[in-house]
Amino acid sequence: MDAVDKLRSVIAKSDNIVFFGGAGVSVPSGIPDFRGSDGLEKQRIPFEDILSHDYFIENPEAFYRIYRDKLIYPDAKPNDAHYALAKLEAMGKLKVVITQNIDNLHQLAGSKKVLELHGSVYRNYCIRCKKKYELKKILTSSGAPRCLCGGIIRPDIVLYREVLDREVLTEAINYIAKADALIVAGTSLVVYPAAGLIRYFAGDNLVIINKSKTDFDYHADVVIYDSVDRVLAAAVK
Ligand code: ZN
Repeated sequence: MDAVDKLRSVIAKSDNIVFFGGAGVSVPSGIPDFRGSDGLEKQRIPFEDILSHDYFIENPEAFYRIYRDKLIYPDAKPNDAHYALAKLEAMGKLKVVITQNIDNLHQLAGSKKVLELHGSVYRNYCIRCKKKYELKKILTSSGAPRCLCGGIIRPDIVLYREVLDREVLTEAINYIAKADALIVAGTSLVVYPAAGLIRYFAGDNLVIINKSKTDFDYHADVVIYDSVDRVLAAAVK
């Protein structure tokens, strides 16, 4: 039995599946993994510094130049991985998608229950009065977008050196702890909080789908070294 067959049989016998996805899930949609090799190595200031809380506060104009250029992909479309997961949810097998991506592609593919650990570029708010703004406001303004009150608008994403939303994190842990199968895909599992979250899984089948090895392969029941869109399209019919 090859690995995709094994994944198929895990899906067949599980009705409490949790999916945990990283940047690799969106790569087939044309959104690069900025931490990966196609990322921003040539950046003069490290990406982690530009996309940090302090940099945003001190240099919002420069922050937004990079942010608009590298983090927003308004024309990106869901790929086979997103659609397969939406289908698994509709079948009653998948309980939640937990994602580190901020691109809204799971929702666009039809997934209903999505926990966005790092927030979403589609949500924005004024740092002074908290008024909410849609992505369109960011796309149709220049420089650092301003609220009607004069405050700077920021994306509702987790910047470097900011903590994750505690409620979202707790909900993710609860889903993982109760799952009977956990599919982890498109992440090397080295970026916080991925590795920590996996440790809460106590179910029967841990499946890892990634193009390269991860530190957790040894613990997994099924490991598939391939692109997640190809694998899920083959496993979910
Ligand atoms: Zn405001």
